Amino acid sequence: MQTRLFIDGQWAEPVHGGTFPVIDPATEAVIHHAPAATAADVDRAVQAARAAFDHGPWRRLTGAERARYLRAIARQIRERLEELARLEVLDNGKPLPEARWDIGDAAGCFEYYAGLAEELDTQAVETISLPDARFTSKAVREAVGVAGAIVPWNYPLLMAAWKVAPALAAGCTIVLKPSELTSLTALELGAIAQKVELPAGVLNIVTGSGRDVGQPLSEHPGVDKLAFTGSVPTGSKIMAAAARDIKRVSLELGGKSPFVVFDDADIARAVEWIMFGIFWNQGQVCSATSRVLVQEGLYERLVERLVEETGKIRIGNGLEDGTLLGPLVSRDQFDKVLAAVDRARAEGARVATGGRAAPGFAAGYFMEPTVLVDVPLESAAWNEEIFGPVVAVRRFRDEAEAVRLANDSVFGLGAAVMSADDARAERVAAALRAGIVWINCSQPTFTEAPWGGYKQSGIGRELGRWGLNNYLETKQITRYVSDEPWGWYIK
Ligand code: NAD
Repeated sequence: MQTRLFIDGQWAEPVHGGTFPVIDPATEAVIHHAPAATAADVDRAVQAARAAFDHGPWRRLTGAERARYLRAIARQIRERLEELARLEVLDNGKPLPEARWDIGDAAGCFEYYAGLAEELDTQAVETISLPDARFTSKAVREAVGVAGAIVPWNYPLLMAAWKVAPALAAGCTIVLKPSELTSLTALELGAIAQKVELPAGVLNIVTGSGRDVGQPLSEHPGVDKLAFTGSVPTGSKIMAAAARDIKRVSLELGGKSPFVVFDDADIARAVEWIMFGIFWNQGQVCSATSRVLVQEGLYERLVERLVEETGKIRIGNGLEDGTLLGPLVSRDQFDKVLAAVDRARAEGARVATGGRAAPGFAAGYFMEPTVLVDVPLESAAWNEEIFGPVVAVRRFRDEAEAVRLANDSVFGLGAAVMSADDARAERVAAALRAGIVWINCSQPTFTEAPWGGYKQSGIGRELGRWGLNNYLETKQITRYVSDEPWGWYIK
């Protein structure tokens, strides 16, 4: 486990020498002390990224040359997959098979953007046809500059990869700030950068709190673009900080994503996708389908089956074989989620199963997977993100009501619809105000496809070509090619 910050290609002690404890959420043991950066370290990291962008080789390399580094990073991640996955479990609590999936996906993300970096060599310049033959024009896509990336704790290395990979592919340099709850794998990315001899200053990693590291990074005048994944309140602060210097900003925020199940759906499939949509990663997933709308003809049977299957989920330490639900990430998150269930009860929802700290654990933030039914429309449990293994279920009558209820949210990240009638599923998908719509499933995520939200769920799209565009500026270069003088002032 790394004990120092990664700045300008070197491991560096924080200027003020601080550390913060890293806690295993399954045991509550302090397993490490991570370096606590402050504004002075952020400044060093931004200066390094600035110098590497302004004067270093990185953005002048061809896309194919940058792609070689990206592929080397991916290879290192794959070589260390098991070790990194175990580190992720210790830090975040998720079951090991999920962590392996995430780390493999992180490697895949670097490989994918290596491909797009190569394409930039032939596709970064576009000829513009003009109606005036005295001019020629072209549009050139270039790196934005220094990117500041601030990421959350639910997919520590993967969320870092979603930002670092496209930024590097585009030719940007970057300062990465992981969540203070999960710094371990992000710091290993520093070791990987060193191993593949990424030029100094291209990737810098500063760990610590939102106040001491995130805020100074978002306010730093040397940063050209901010990329953030996290909560709406923090996203709003970051957008305000970006506004001062007109920094480019992309935000991936929270959600309260609906899952609409029509009564022609296969009940077993519906139940499994509902469970996958809310219990994967302990429900700490921005796109979790945490509001389930079931058509009345299926409602009773579906709830009964959902409760039965939910009760069978094996809760345990993420490192133990067979665990399907690990602990929540922190004491704070555990308290928040349990409090949200208490509030739901007080507001009139019925807890059909779960709702308590999981019995039988001497330590750790283990919570029972929870199904809330009859959840009042105006309740917090129906409207606010809980970010835990808690699903709120309601019934609906017809398609129009389903769409109205599904769209009645300040969020618009994900949405899912399940029906045997393809035309109806497509109709509903078209009517849903969300950036990601799943038909007959919930949550599968592909590096190639755009990811992001409508409404308060964010601004911009990550992944796919859209993700690369976040780190590119477009420059117009127009040339006067006529032999004739312009002849406006001087005839
Ligand atoms: P958070 O907003 O508390 O923290 C996210 C990051 O921002 C952390 O690194 C934190 O240290 C930093 N931060 C905190 N205050 C800051 C400030 N004032 N200035 C700059 N940085 C600051 O969120 P979290 O609790 O880590 O993550 C959970 C939230 O993230 C949920 O709301 C979830 O929906 C959202 N999320 C969204 C996506 C997505 O793709 N849309 C993915 C994962 C998580």
